[in-house]
Amino acid sequence: MGILDGKKGVIFGLANDRSIAHGIATAITEAGAELAITYQNEALEKRVLPLAESLGCPLVIPCDVTVEGSTESTFEKIRSAFGGLDFVVHSLAYANKEALKGPYLNVSRQDFLQALEISAYSLTQLTRAALPLMEGRAGSILTLSYLGAERAIPNYNVMGVAKAALEASVRYLAADLGPQGIRVNAISAGPIKTLSAAAIPGFSQMLDRYENRAPLRRNVTTTEVGRSALYLLSDLASGVTGEVLHVDAGYHSQGL
Ligand code: NAD
Repeated sequence: MGILDGKKGVIFGLANDRSIAHGIATAITEAGAELAITYQNEALEKRVLPLAESLGCPLVIPCDVTVEGSTESTFEKIRSAFGGLDFVVHSLAYANKEALKGPYLNVSRQDFLQALEISAYSLTQLTRAALPLMEGRAGSILTLSYLGAERAIPNYNVMGVAKAALEASVRYLAADLGPQGIRVNAISAGPIKTLSAAAIPGFSQMLDRYENRAPLRRNVTTTEVGRSALYLLSDLASGVTGEVLHVDAGYHSQGL
């Protein structure tokens, strides 16, 4: 018996086996959920299809949140295959590499809008599209954030501004959807070496700093983020919404 037996969900943002989405997908399929996986584009397809197969996911759908109609057609496919949905995991973000170096001050209007659209607005977009499939269910929505939402972190720049908007969206969506019994939460993960993380200059120094300063004196893994996601998506967290749970070896809790 798994704690997600009989539940159906979708995870957005699988790129490869180092993706946080992979850690989450592993934990939730092991817990018994039936899972649909989406990936951004054809370039990722040959990596994603075998991973989805090894996870036993019956539904694998391309979805680019910036492409008109892509989100709607994704949820239509999920409706045909699953009938409804118990949870949605939003594990995607993007900012132009150029905006992730030097002073934040220099961010262009285009880079700002693109980062905010893909990394923050998309949560609201996906949530709205998922709602009709969650009718009558105690749904759960989860997104991924980082400490750069709360504090200025060198080079995180416009992504920090986008994550601040994302965390605020979690609180507003929790207020909107709470009366229907739908919960909305975020995990603020510590740094993990993934494809997206590679775009941040000085990322390996960030990993070293966490290893030296975090209370647990190490970095976290996608498996650990996956297990915390399992808690937030399951009935174990039935009283938790509007929350940003730090899964970062305790780093955020420390001062000097
Ligand atoms: P990743 O590169 O494996 O995943 C990012 C995903 O976003 C990719 O699958 C990519 O295809 C997808 N994506 C980008 N633009 C998209 C679009 N227009 N439409 C659909 N999908 C799109 O990296 P990750 O580190 O696993 O990132 C997952 C989430 O975790 C992101 O929100 C990231 O900001 C967050 N996060 C990462 C870290 C870290 O250190 N890796 C720490 C905290 C939070």
